[in-house]
Amino acid sequence: MSAAPPLRAAILGAGPAGAALAVLLARRGAQITLFDDDHRPALLVGESLVPAAIPILKTLGVEDETATFSCVKPGVSFVWSPADRFAFTFARFAPDVFPYAYNIPRPRFDESLARQADAAGAVRVVARARLVPAAPDGRGGELALAPETLAAAPHLDGRQPDLIVDATGRARHTSRVLGIAARVGPRKDAAHFAHFDGFRWDDAPGQVLVAPLGAGGWSWCIPLRDRLSVGIVLNQQDAARLGRTPEERLAAGIATDRWLASVVGGGARLTPVASYTNYQLISERAVGPGWVAVGDAFGFVDPMLSPGVFLALRSAQLVADALAPVLDRRVPAAPDRLATLLRPYAVEHSAALTAWSALIELFYDGRMLALMAAGRDWMANGSGRVKRAVQHHIERHIALQASGAATTSRYSRGLLRFLARYGLRGISPAAMSLR
Ligand SMILES: Cc1cc2nc3c(=O)[nH]c(=O)nc-3n(C[C@H](O)[C@H](O)[C@H](O)COP(=O)(O)OP(=O)(O)OC[C@H]3O[C@@H](n4cnc5c(N)ncnc54)[C@H](O)[C@@H]3O)c2cc1C
Repeated sequence: MSAAPPLRAAILGAGPAGAALAVLLARRGAQITLFDDDHRPALLVGESLVPAAIPILKTLGVEDETATFSCVKPGVSFVWSPADRFAFTFARFAPDVFPYAYNIPRPRFDESLARQADAAGAVRVVARARLVPAAPDGRGGELALAPETLAAAPHLDGRQPDLIVDATGRARHTSRVLGIAARVGPRKDAAHFAHFDGFRWDDAPGQVLVAPLGAGGWSWCIPLRDRLSVGIVLNQQDAARLGRTPEERLAAGIATDRWLASVVGGGARLTPVASYTNYQLISERAVGPGWVAVGDAFGFVDPMLSPGVFLALRSAQLVADALAPVLDRRVPAAPDRLATLLRPYAVEHSAALTAWSALIELFYDGRMLALMAAGRDWMANGSGRVKRAVQHHIERHIALQASGAATTSRYSRGLLRFLARYGLRGISPAAMSLR
């Protein structure tokens, strides 16, 4: 029996999801066209990785290079008040949790991944790609490259690809073309951030700090190699009260928060202020005949806990795995066959997005911090061997979820839900919630 022809795929978007998928598919013999709109602002969110991203960077062959321009992230501290400061170090939960992660300058990281895609044999086309609904008399695919996009990739010889991958991030190009609805999350936040120097640091080098913000919402401090990324995330009414422009809002958000001002108040802003709004949403459909969505184009839950880049890379890995029979050329890449192979990916990734949303909700409504405070108080009243083991068990399952190692684990999720309901021992979650 002769082998099926190699898969021909067009990937729209060279962010982490698109570039990672280009590497994985091109390495396995697929003919990849990677459309890159070359939109690389100096500042991009997605600067803090979770540990589960690092084994994927190893697989992609970019971990060593990432280490040369990034800052090792040993853990995360939640700084709710001077008395309520909870520090997690990933290495404490190794080997179940990968022992470290990185804080990355995103544009530089994206460049490394895109160059790795080039090296794997993907053909990068610098163009803003456009899709159209496929003509009914076509091969049965639901989408097609628009004529000018097809023409921008002369090596395609005017032939539509077998598979179109939407990796356009929050532009969600396929959902817009096909009118696919999304499940929208409860928060309508704005985020403003910039890089600073001259900050004051009292935690471990590289540790990411998350803290409630005086003006509402919360703030992040992400140490990069030579600077600190500082962001504020708050609902749009509270953001508007801080000022008219993003610059005014970030400055006022820092100045009106005693703790954040003590970290960065004396520093200088090195970059313009970047802004993002409305990002909690998961597409109701991410697969169809001849197409699939990966990364943010499928869904994005929230910046709290930093899962975005990991989920983008993980979605690429799941898609590449699902396509194994086509990549091995055992079956032809017909649009319906591709959709059948890819549907389990959509189910699995949607479940992951939902699990992260549920975990993050525990941070917003105060139950996770109340649980940490309850554990601390419990240990303060004498810490026998059994008590220590129980406390370690609970912290391990928090770490397993928040690191990306086992966010969907039924046991971990059930344990945290149970404890958040019955284990708070007199500590009110409302007092630790974020507006
Ligand atoms: C406020 C905020 C803070 C965040 N902080 C973190 C964090 O600390 N850690 C973390 O892991 N994640 C974070 N994220 C999320 C993270 O940035 C995203 O999840 C991640 O970038 C998704 O990767 P992606 O490849 O799916 O999409 P993107 O990174 O958005 O990449 C999409 C690419 O496609 C290109 N493109 C778009 N349309 C087209 C087109 N038509 N043709 C060709 N190219 C196109 C874009 O220019 C872009 O290069 C944050 C998000 C927000 C909103």
